[in-house]
Amino acid sequence: MSEWEDWKLYERLVARLMADELSTDFCVTPNASIRGAITGIKRQIDVLIEIRHDTDNTRRLIVDAKRRSRKIDVKDVEAFRGMMEDVGATHGYLVCPRGHTSAAEKRAQTAVTIRLLPLDRLEGFDPRTWPRCSRNKCSKGRVFWDGHPEISLNLLDADGNAIRRAFIHDVGKCDRCGVFHVECGTCRELFCVLECNEVDVGHRCACQLPWFLLASIEMDEKGAQSAELHLVMGLGEVRTVNRRSLSAV
Ligand SMILES: [Zn+2]
Ligand SMILES: [Zn+2]
Repeated sequence: MSEWEDWKLYERLVARLMADELSTDFCVTPNASIRGAITGIKRQIDVLIEIRHDTDNTRRLIVDAKRRSRKIDVKDVEAFRGMMEDVGATHGYLVCPRGHTSAAEKRAQTAVTIRLLPLDRLEGFDPRTWPRCSRNKCSKGRVFWDGHPEISLNLLDADGNAIRRAFIHDVGKCDRCGVFHVECGTCRELFCVLECNEVDVGHRCACQLPWFLLASIEMDEKGAQSAELHLVMGLGEVRTVNRRSLSAV
């Protein structure tokens, strides 16, 4: 696993477990980057957890995965709380394989949850099985799936009878460049949807059904920005199916 350093594998495992554990009302971004409200610089976040369907930046959770041989101590918790404040996180998780000191737990209070994740949980976990990022110039990224929006449609069968069919998509993000990806569960087409291309008119898969995917950068009333992936349906109905915050205010 040359391209997968030990710490990175551990970070991705934590992201995977979080995404599997949470309701799909939340979206999970591994290796996120948010411009801090206090420092004004980009902060790297191991795992970012946010509201999926709305431009809601009032509840944001961040996770720091610390793969190392010593326990989490007070300084780790304090540094993490500083980061939480900068990126506007309402709660934080510190995950490590070795546990923590009792002072660290006191410093964590209710704002931070410290979790133990032993290294043996890595057994059988292999992100090389994830699809490669399909954006040009991103050769090392892998796609992390975290949502599965479904659309139901009334279709006519060969005898003219109406039948209801569900179409499922997998949605996610590249773990390196963050770009949104979609895989159609029907035709299996996998594509990326860039959020900063102004001439982009959206992407429709080979099924050619009446919807398409489009990404954009949204700004809330306080000026915080997030990249969002939208599913646009026939009659102009728009559903936000994935998000990734870019800045805090
Ligand atoms: Zn990428
Ligand atoms: Zn399709």
